[in-house]
Amino acid sequence: MADAKPPQAAVPSVDKLLRSEEGKALTATFGRQAVTDAVRQDLTTLRKHLSETGEPVQGEFGVDNVISRVKSSLEAHLVPSLKEVFNLTGTVVHTNLGRAPMPPEALDAVAAVAGGASNLEYNVASGRRGDRDDHLDDWLCNLTGAEAATVVNNNAAAVLLVLNALALRKEVPVSRGELIEIGGAFRMPDIMVRAGCKLVEVGTTNRTHLRDFADAIGSRTALLMKVHTSNYEVQGFTATVAETQLSQLAHDHTLPFVVDLGSGTLTNLERFGLPHEPTASETLSSGADIVTFSGDKLLGGPQAGIIVGRADLISKIKKNPMKRAMRCDKMTIAALSAILRLYANPDQLVQRVPVLRLLARSADDILACAQRLLPALTRRTGKSVSVEILPCKSLIGSGSLPSKRLESQAIVLRLNSARRSGAALNRIAAAFRALPIPVIGRIQDDAFWLDLRCLEMRSEKVFVEQLELLRLHARSGP
Ligand SMILES: *Cc1c(COP(=O)(O)O)cnc(C)c1O
Repeated sequence: MADAKPPQAAVPSVDKLLRSEEGKALTATFGRQAVTDAVRQDLTTLRKHLSETGEPVQGEFGVDNVISRVKSSLEAHLVPSLKEVFNLTGTVVHTNLGRAPMPPEALDAVAAVAGGASNLEYNVASGRRGDRDDHLDDWLCNLTGAEAATVVNNNAAAVLLVLNALALRKEVPVSRGELIEIGGAFRMPDIMVRAGCKLVEVGTTNRTHLRDFADAIGSRTALLMKVHTSNYEVQGFTATVAETQLSQLAHDHTLPFVVDLGSGTLTNLERFGLPHEPTASETLSSGADIVTFSGDKLLGGPQAGIIVGRADLISKIKKNPMKRAMRCDKMTIAALSAILRLYANPDQLVQRVPVLRLLARSADDILACAQRLLPALTRRTGKSVSVEILPCKSLIGSGSLPSKRLESQAIVLRLNSARRSGAALNRIAAAFRALPIPVIGRIQDDAFWLDLRCLEMRSEKVFVEQLELLRLHARSGP
């Protein structure tokens, strides 16, 4: 009997494990080195346990057991860390959760070019070299009314590139009310330094007037800039200079007027019952010479920074060596070009662009979803947790329209115990995050909230099925 032998003798050799049938199968799948390392590690752990406790746990050293543990650990190691989650935070365009979800048209376009060669920079008709921007610029010009366009990796890059190309070693006056910091350490003053230009602060935090800009213009001024204050609002006794006035002032001094729109959109969001957000074409019409905005915020596409405007300035921007360092890859270009084509039919936009569909979704539709899901959630949570549907407000997110909330509905989990502990709520949140497709909600007012705005009907089945694996462990008392 195995139990009668000295414990250490029960440990199989690495060689024996590798030469077993199961060991050979593992090696074929994962590679000899990886399997050898994993087997050694498993045996080391077992021996350590043995020497500390003196007792082998029944069966742990069997070849089958070692191999099956090694197999699970190798499989787990190969699962990509970047994965799908359910964004039930209530923030639709959530930077930490990947921002805009993309439509099938964009995913198909990526798949069509990513696995092989493509005409990324090749003009098939002439057989000559092409420009990767060719796949996008006509569409961007048509949709915004701009003369020319170019695209880089994100809007932060777009701003950096525009400033470096148009204002190197020169001055850029910006209102003190617009010296923004966006999540992820994008601070306007720092960007100016990195772009090699000198920020000239004008006006005050709450009020900036046209004359403040006029006074700041000198021989070293390169351009006038307006930054959309996308993640905060200054309220009360405030004054900002209208774009039309700033552009007039810039043009009187033959300076370009640059606007960083941030979110930017290509369509009037009021059509979908959403608050108004300036569109790229409105901004160009009010006199901007260059407008920059993100591809993955309200536009609903891949991460990208879009630059549109005057042809001579775009040409200068494209010649800047930084453009080469910031250029988009073929997957981004494929996805973006597919999205732009959806904008050709404004009547279908809200159905076909997921970010717009989610933002425009009615509270009634979300309530119906909550009612369908409530029984499944109630079944899984047990007696110690109460589950109910409550109205809530969603945020657009990513700095768009910060003060505007969208009416939504949430499923809310609350501990029944009188002693409401934060730790127990955190455990509930962690249990939802531990599901195969992690469910990310938010803790607020002593409860765990799942805002259902971003849970669409086609995902409900998967959502409910995986609830079988939910382990709440919510202890109700000490
Ligand atoms: C979001 C934002 C940026 C940065 O855009 P990314 O696409 O995240 O790089 C820059 N400026 C403003 C005003 C923004 O809102």
